[in-house]
Amino acid sequence: MKVKKTVLSIKPYEAGKPISEVEREYGIKNAVKLASNENPLGFSPKVEGTIKNAVKYLNRYPENRGLREKLAEKYEVSPKNIILGNGSDEILKMFADTLLTPETEAIMTKPSFLVYDIAVKSAGATSVFIPLTDNLDTDFDVIKSKITSKTRIIFLTNPNNPTGYVIKEREFDRFIADIPEDILVIIDEAYVEFARDKEMIKSLMYMKEGANIAVTRTFSKAYGLAGLRIGYSVMPEELALMMNRVRLPFNVNSVAAVAAAAALEDERFLNESLDITHKGIDFLCKELDKMKVAFFPTQANFILIDIKRDADAFFKAMLKDGIIIRSMSSYGYPNYIRVSVGLPEENEKFLNIFEKSI
Ligand SMILES: *Cc1c(COP(=O)(O)O)cnc(C)c1O
Repeated sequence: MKVKKTVLSIKPYEAGKPISEVEREYGIKNAVKLASNENPLGFSPKVEGTIKNAVKYLNRYPENRGLREKLAEKYEVSPKNIILGNGSDEILKMFADTLLTPETEAIMTKPSFLVYDIAVKSAGATSVFIPLTDNLDTDFDVIKSKITSKTRIIFLTNPNNPTGYVIKEREFDRFIADIPEDILVIIDEAYVEFARDKEMIKSLMYMKEGANIAVTRTFSKAYGLAGLRIGYSVMPEELALMMNRVRLPFNVNSVAAVAAAAALEDERFLNESLDITHKGIDFLCKELDKMKVAFFPTQANFILIDIKRDADAFFKAMLKDGIIIRSMSSYGYPNYIRVSVGLPEENEKFLNIFEKSI
């Protein structure tokens, strides 16, 4: 086989270690997974009934207009502005497939979500990496300075993964004002529901005002439906028309579509999830402070911690005690770990073992 050079240069995505695998490998029970920023509360009870009903029609191809209409209503846009995906990951890849050729480039920060680079290289294009500042902030001036006639996409993440930082209105206004019209700015907002910072951009407003922006969001995090694979993006209609040419038919399954629609209506569950996340973040930060451990202020449901030692070894040591966290070495931070917020008892168990190991 003659595999594309760009594909050979892709580093395979490493997912957070599954609970069942850890329990089997180490012969333990009740392992706690704080590695993939999942919702520890589960998902809305309204989802279950909807799924049972949807299962009756598994012989039919899916139809997901209902979910697109609900999302359109929520964001005050037309359903024509919305693309659904098998997770927002799939939509990120669709952008690359629609806009990138081997002669073109996409700009992203380093570190950033590994899926961007995978999407760009799968399309045969080149990723241009912009290091974060010393405070792990996005350097918008440097991003701008790297724009060339080859640039087609700029990937931004709000709040960022793995840092938890949000994009502020002031810096973004200055940035977006003179971005060339043939560049799409993708704002990945997988964690936006968790953010409490009042200065954070209202990304959809820019899109509605005519900026060349696509916003991606997901049901995998705050809504707790990671296993179903369902995400969406709000974008200019002209772009959605082109994306729909590339999108495979029936990319979102019928069960996921109705489950997401039910999840969207259950504000009570969403608020409970946000509440337990915020309390968990505040608790973890307070305790890490007491231990004099360096971590980054976060607007998401995870915390990036500087453990000042080899994170891969630390990750393995914690696994033996049944705590699954994420080493950030694959993100280029060999001395950092990322910990997702869990249930109160899971957070405590993490802290106990962390304090013992650090
Ligand atoms: C988790 C995550 C996603 C969501 O992926 P899905 O495919 O929707 O599950 C997207 N972007 C970032 C930065 C993430 O961390």
